[in-house]
Amino acid sequence: MRRFWLLGVTLAFAACAPTTNTPTVSVADRDLEQQKQFELVLEDNRRHTERAHRIYTRIARANVDSCPNVRALMGVHTTEKQSFKGNELIAAIKVYNLIVDHPMVFYSAADAVQIGDFVTKVEGKPVSCAADIAKFAPAGEGPVNMTVLRSGKEIDVVVPRVRQCGYGLKVVNQSMVNAFATGADIIFTTGMMQYASTDDELALVMGHEMAHNVEDHVDKQKGNQFAGMLLGAVIGGATGIDMTSTFGRMGAMAFSQEFEAEADYVGMYYAAKAGFGIKDAPKFWRKMAVQNPNAIAHGTTHPDTASRFLALEKTVEEIEGKRAAGKPLLPERKIGQVSNPQAAGTEEQTPEQEARNRRRADCLAAYSATPRRCDQY
Ligand SMILES: [Zn+2]
Repeated sequence: MRRFWLLGVTLAFAACAPTTNTPTVSVADRDLEQQKQFELVLEDNRRHTERAHRIYTRIARANVDSCPNVRALMGVHTTEKQSFKGNELIAAIKVYNLIVDHPMVFYSAADAVQIGDFVTKVEGKPVSCAADIAKFAPAGEGPVNMTVLRSGKEIDVVVPRVRQCGYGLKVVNQSMVNAFATGADIIFTTGMMQYASTDDELALVMGHEMAHNVEDHVDKQKGNQFAGMLLGAVIGGATGIDMTSTFGRMGAMAFSQEFEAEADYVGMYYAAKAGFGIKDAPKFWRKMAVQNPNAIAHGTTHPDTASRFLALEKTVEEIEGKRAAGKPLLPERKIGQVSNPQAAGTEEQTPEQEARNRRRADCLAAYSATPRRCDQY
């Protein structure tokens, strides 16, 4: 009985089997091709990492005065043998020329260090992995003495540290078109790196993600979620129905679209201040609409792509107007509106608004590095 059952299953599959003579592939040839494909992935990763850091460093340095989180950094990013294993390690040794046990430079904002250099010493101490570079760099913001191996020769170099927004940047190998901010880092998928095909487009998305961190959106959303959970617990206590997670979810969604619109707006200022082209940047949202037609008319956590395109066109106009008038490129704030020419010219200000403007101007004068903090009172 069991034999008949097996025969039946085999026949059923045979009936659906392919009918052409497909080429046979030897195991040896497949192994060679697999190795080649691992190499292609690593070449791609190197290109994305270099591009991401090059653009982000420009934005993070140009907008240092807007960041609450500032660090003095060399802008040197490396890779090392320890990050790879198996087939990837074989490919990395070949593609990245990882022939010695020292971190190899992937990107450098400093002229003194070149892509492909191996960092052998920092402040005279031997370096075997990337963590050693940060560990041996002296405290403070002064330059760092390094020895690098370049074309087989060891060279002593002095690498300056430059103050910049201190958020980390990560590129993850995922095909999904996505980027997000954690409050401490900004993260880009390789899918997004490919999709934002011009540097101006990528600068727009990087500015957006950095704005989420600078404007504290992650913490604010967590706060809203917590407030929602509290409200849910109170209602749950009165009704006997547990509403904590439902209200928590609703709280997390509160202002979600507004936060996204704010990140678009503020992020475009960051890209503009770093010298990236902004004129065509709004078109990114037309491109995104083609990628995701559902978002054209339906905003969920984010505004719909039509609104985002139109709001960014207005932002471009605003920024170009400030440039033409020689005004600083800072986003307009709701409180005070001291740097908004339209509001100042067309609206009578109440004594309360005037007092608030004065307080904010004093605050800005005292804390010119962080105008955002001045908006919090
Ligand atoms: Zn966002």
